[in-house]
Amino acid sequence: SGSLEIYEEMLRLMKKEGLNCSVNLEEEPHDSSIGMKKSGCHGFCEMGPLLRIEPWGYLYIKVKVEDCKEIIEETIKKGQCIERLIYKKDGKGYKTQAEIPFYKKQTRLVLEHCGHIDATSIKEYLAVGGYEALEKALFDRDDEGIIHEITESNLRGRGGGGFPAGRKWTQVRRQVEPTKYVVCNGDEGDPGAFMDRSIMEGDPHRMLEGMMIAAKACKAREGYIYVRAEYPLAISRLRKAIDEAREYGLLGEHILGTDFSFDIKINRGAGAFVCGEGSALTASIEGKRGMPRVKPPRTVEQGLFEKPTVLNNVETFANVPLIILNGVDWYKGIGPEKSPGTKAFALTGNIENTGLIEVPMGTTLREVIFDIGGGMRDGANFKAVQIGGPSGGCLTSDDLDLPLDFDSLKKAGAMIGSGGLVVMDENTCMVEVARFFMNFTQNESCGKCVPCREGTKRMLEILERIVVGGGEENDLDQLLELADTISSTALCGLGKTAAFPVVSTIKKFKGEYLAHIVDKK
Ligand code: SF4
Repeated sequence: SGSLEIYEEMLRLMKKEGLNCSVNLEEEPHDSSIGMKKSGCHGFCEMGPLLRIEPWGYLYIKVKVEDCKEIIEETIKKGQCIERLIYKKDGKGYKTQAEIPFYKKQTRLVLEHCGHIDATSIKEYLAVGGYEALEKALFDRDDEGIIHEITESNLRGRGGGGFPAGRKWTQVRRQVEPTKYVVCNGDEGDPGAFMDRSIMEGDPHRMLEGMMIAAKACKAREGYIYVRAEYPLAISRLRKAIDEAREYGLLGEHILGTDFSFDIKINRGAGAFVCGEGSALTASIEGKRGMPRVKPPRTVEQGLFEKPTVLNNVETFANVPLIILNGVDWYKGIGPEKSPGTKAFALTGNIENTGLIEVPMGTTLREVIFDIGGGMRDGANFKAVQIGGPSGGCLTSDDLDLPLDFDSLKKAGAMIGSGGLVVMDENTCMVEVARFFMNFTQNESCGKCVPCREGTKRMLEILERIVVGGGEENDLDQLLELADTISSTALCGLGKTAAFPVVSTIKKFKGEYLAHIVDKK
């Protein structure tokens, strides 16, 4: 927070100083010598507000309105770096973004433009190669060719399940029903997760381009983006991006003079976690109550308005242009064979550098927490990380060398989920963590099926009494029995995975649960 005030102050002071400053150099190239740009999120949230000054590339952190005068005097006028405003760690200063360990250890592909381009300008996206993948898909590939590439790339859905995108697209394309839809899931309901939000706010065209390519390959004419209403900036950036894409003939009838016609609508969700589930999401777009339904039929057969639907999340679609532009071999060269590409994670909790990061799949937890995250805050010891939000599990110091990819995490009893990573130190009570996530899931249960509606309530009651020291000896058995029943009988993924944080903390921190129960005696 505070970035907008700094932006306004910089503009005001430069005007006062008689410096030629424009908020849009493209439009006024002859009148301005300095350009000011509002970019999307840089990801280094802990250090914000950030100000980067080109051509030197100085990245100033924790900038305050009072710093603006000095920045103009020293940096803008003289090109001098202000040492006190740069990132420092272990006595070493880092002047530019590229040098900072937080960025250096990352591979930012999906997030490459976030924090660099102005998300409200299609011209900026075009200037960095935007829509070239669409052009390739329209003029150099047939529909099967596009799907073949996505299938061969082994791109797996970044929303949680890791289902191969190419297989989904193939199934939709095969349906005889002529009306098909492409839907982007921008619901992102996990507490602490903001990967999709950053893409929508910082580089909306990348995601639109991915949706367009999917539509071309699957013969869809209409697309929807389902975004939670709590993301007003993402919604306004997407609206602007869609309007500009229409102006440039990239959406609408006969795109770039071809037979391909496609347009996108935005649908705002009211913030129900369950609406991240495919059938609940499509029901919500249709104007019905967002509740999951029994499957089959699956979304690829009968999704939105009971028509075949490609449903992928924001990050998945944002990967598509990269694959089409750079090729399958390039993509498969990043990360492990069965989970190629990168993954964006929201790094939060008791860690030095909280923020948004992107790393190749297969990067270890140790690298993420200690190299990129800068280690634990205030010199505390690492205890655990909750990965995958309320559907995920916790990993401990025994798992620090575990590669973060779909299959390795599944084996370890956790999941990538959408990419939330909550890092906890030695002072964290793991029973309280389990209670927090169960409280969240219980609140978000849509109530359609008994095991989830009632079972999560009973589990929460037990956890609440354990936390306050009123636990009984057989509480852990009851929790595990309820967890088993809910997981095997709930209708949708929310219920099936609701007990995961509890089971995983009982498995790894049983002593803490017992201490709570025994302590009261
Ligand atoms: Fe609703 Fe829970 Fe049943 Fe899913 S499992 S349908 S969220 S009650």
